[in-house]
Amino acid sequence: MPIPRVPRRRERLKDIPVDGHKRVLLASPRGYCAGVDRAVIAVEKALERFGAPVYVRKQIVHNIHVVTELEGKGAIFVEEVDEVPAGAHVVFSAHGVSPAVVNAASDRGLQAIDATCPLVTKVHREAVRFARDDFEILLIGHEGHEEVEGTAGEAPDHVTIVNSPDDADRIEVKDPSKVVWLSQTTLSVDETMETVRRLRARFPELQDPPSDDICYATQNRQVAIKKVAKDADLVIVVGSANSSNSVRLVEVALEYGAKAAYRVDYADEIEQAWFDGVTTVGVTSGASVPEVLVSEVLADLATAGYLDVEEVRTAEEDLIFSLPKELRQDAAGKRDDRALGGRGGRS
Ligand code: SF4
Repeated sequence: MPIPRVPRRRERLKDIPVDGHKRVLLASPRGYCAGVDRAVIAVEKALERFGAPVYVRKQIVHNIHVVTELEGKGAIFVEEVDEVPAGAHVVFSAHGVSPAVVNAASDRGLQAIDATCPLVTKVHREAVRFARDDFEILLIGHEGHEEVEGTAGEAPDHVTIVNSPDDADRIEVKDPSKVVWLSQTTLSVDETMETVRRLRARFPELQDPPSDDICYATQNRQVAIKKVAKDADLVIVVGSANSSNSVRLVEVALEYGAKAAYRVDYADEIEQAWFDGVTTVGVTSGASVPEVLVSEVLADLATAGYLDVEEVRTAEEDLIFSLPKELRQDAAGKRDDRALGGRGGRS
């Protein structure tokens, strides 16, 4: 399926006349997480090792720039494995797949490379375990999102999807004494806790997951933008429309005091009209966004007179994941445990 292109356009921003000191508050951590880094490198390594084309089921990560770059290197993105020629290599995206997809790939004789983020795999394992113990799993997440489909697919008879806090007031369960909640990894922490509060009000015996399902990267980026947003007249979030964690950053910025917040894929989507009376611009990016796109935004802001850039750092990240096991051996059969260049870690 062809990937929709984001139109590139217009001249750069013009100088903005504003009373007061113009500055940028640059949130940190921002951008690539360890799971995204690993998934993108997995496609690159697969292309290097097996040659083009390498097929990828769904967007490897939810970022149009990353997908376009990989297409240029020979990756072919498909919606389902039945579009992949029998026997070819196919990479499963960072968002994970259900067992039905794994089986369909196997039935077609595809050589699958699983780039599912290990933190998504952790939630899959929780789903399997709670289903085995006959729990009803209330999976907080967005229906139709690939990650939610993959997790729900581990235990379809045991999972009910809870889309929102309001959904928590409506859903019914079979046995209120045996329910547990799990969640998508890229949700708003605050909204998820509100959903849990409302679920627990109805089902007091609701069990918590064994550890946080909302991942470190999502949490860290939200904490950083909260700190920036309270001082920002305008927040610009770099990230794609289908990137859950990027969209959440816009919502969190508005909730925590930004007077306005917009998401852009590229710097050239920034509009002059957003800057009326703006002295402080907050900038961040979602977990699937390469830093080059943030640099382009900063360069555009500089042309508008926002030259003073102050980093607001709320956590250090150093987590890295090893390559998918299918890529850990080089062509000579030697293990390749090379550390990936990720910027993961927990605050
Ligand atoms: Fe993994 Fe979190 Fe990154 Fe998703 S956002 S790929 S769960 S680290």
